[in-house]
Amino acid sequence: MISVVVPIYNEEELIMRFHEAVAFAMEGVHMSWEVVYVNDGSTDYSLELLKGLQTMDSHVVVVELSRNWGHVGAISAGIETARGDAVILMDGDFQDPPEVLPKLIEAWREGAEVVVAVRKSRQERRKILAQLFPLFYRVLGALSDYPIPLNAGIFSLMDRKAVDSVNAMGEKNRYLPGLRAWVGYRNTVVYYDRQDRLAGDGKLSFSSRIKYAMDAITSFSYKPLRLSFALFFLAGSVAALLAVFMLFSKSSVAVAGFGVGAAVFFVGGLLLLCLGVLGEYIGRMYDEVRNRPLSIVSTVHRSPAMIAPHLAVIAAKGKGYADQPNGETETAVVEAA
Ligand code: UDP
Ligand code: MG
Repeated sequence: MISVVVPIYNEEELIMRFHEAVAFAMEGVHMSWEVVYVNDGSTDYSLELLKGLQTMDSHVVVVELSRNWGHVGAISAGIETARGDAVILMDGDFQDPPEVLPKLIEAWREGAEVVVAVRKSRQERRKILAQLFPLFYRVLGALSDYPIPLNAGIFSLMDRKAVDSVNAMGEKNRYLPGLRAWVGYRNTVVYYDRQDRLAGDGKLSFSSRIKYAMDAITSFSYKPLRLSFALFFLAGSVAALLAVFMLFSKSSVAVAGFGVGAAVFFVGGLLLLCLGVLGEYIGRMYDEVRNRPLSIVSTVHRSPAMIAPHLAVIAAKGKGYADQPNGETETAVVEAA
């Protein structure tokens, strides 16, 4: 089965058209499917419409969140609910076009375990964002310690294995496109043209976008923490230069000026050095707190001859448990009391 996860926040003018388009695309694929709509605390009629859809179409699953948690929260709830062997993530405003779905599924059937939809072009009515998106991807590309496909958002398909790996990640400040790349597995890319939103206004606030961009950078890069080292070298060089000027200047005023200047830069540099060292520790603490696994196993290949003894052990264990009904354990507890 294929699951399609769609976060919905105040999309009443689009829901019906969107579901029609998704259903049309999925019917062409000839596999069983479900759409998990996550209602992220909508304040319009979105939830009523979704519930109505659900009574009419058994493919629809509606997840109702307790309040508005934001795009990432809604998607996380959706992928935890989805039961498919493959899970597709997409926005519900036609910016991720439903006609691309069969292409994603085809790539998955051909053996890919993560299929990322990458934007070939982007239509964006909001001019500031049209400038900021490419800038964000350039900065992320330059800073990231781990290669993350650029110009790709959440629109993608993940095999059950990849979904389980992402779900197992405990971190709270998630940058999903980064985590999706980070878990690995066989990746492939499908290109598409990103359209502008079909109706209504963008629902994400500017501050939530900034938070998301900061999550992306801080969760995949140590470089901002290491900035202090670069600044330390800069301050150190200026201090040395001023010290040299001081040694060769004739007037006592200039000597004093250069001397004080050199001292200021030198001490400032020492502070930056200490900050850099602290940064190294904090980065490692961040790693420990995030508790990401050190590696993820995709498949275990074993020859049948190696598996046979294990099967025998498992069968024997199963029998052993079956021989001990729960009642016995309970009696033991009662006697002990
Ligand atoms: N969305 C959500 N919760 C929010 C904001 C948005 O679930 O707090 C949904 C929204 O309904 C849409 C998707 O997330 O399906 C993307 O939102 P939007 O189109 O506003 O983002 P943009 O495309 O402007 O980045
Ligand atoms: Mg959108």
